[in-house]
Amino acid sequence: MEYKELLERARSQLPEKVFEQSRFEIPQIRSVVEGNKTFIVNIREILETINREENHFLKFMAGELATSVTMESARAVFAGKHAKVTLQSLLERYVKEYVICNECTKPDTKLVTESRILWKRCDACGASTAVKPLRK
Ligand SMILES: [Zn+2]
Repeated sequence: MEYKELLERARSQLPEKVFEQSRFEIPQIRSVVEGNKTFIVNIREILETINREENHFLKFMAGELATSVTMESARAVFAGKHAKVTLQSLLERYVKEYVICNECTKPDTKLVTESRILWKRCDACGASTAVKPLRK
C-alpha cells in the first residue's frame, strides 16, 4: 500500500474531534492606532477562537499594557499607542497561560475558580493547573 493511502486510512479511523483540536491556531490580532488609542478590530473573532470571556481577556491585556480598555461597538479600545506585535505577543502569552492545557497541549479547557484559586481545567485529559491571577 502506498504511504499516502496508509495515511488516508489512518485518518479515516481517527475521530473527527482530533482534527478539530489539531486545527487550533492562535488568531492574528488586527489592530489600528487612531490618535492616542489602539483598537483591536477583530476582538469578537479572537474571543470566539480562544473561547474565553471578554472581561478576563481584556483585563489581562490592559494589566500587561498598564493602560485602560473599553469596548466600543465590537472593538476593544486601549488607551495609548500599542504596536500590533506587542498585542500579538500578549495574546500568545494569554493563550499559553489561560487556554492551552499544560499536560496535553490541547485548547479544550475552561477556567474555574475553586478555593479562591483560578484553575485551568482540561476537558480532553482532565488535568487541572492553577493559573496566575490577573494583575490589579
Ligand atoms: Zn489536557
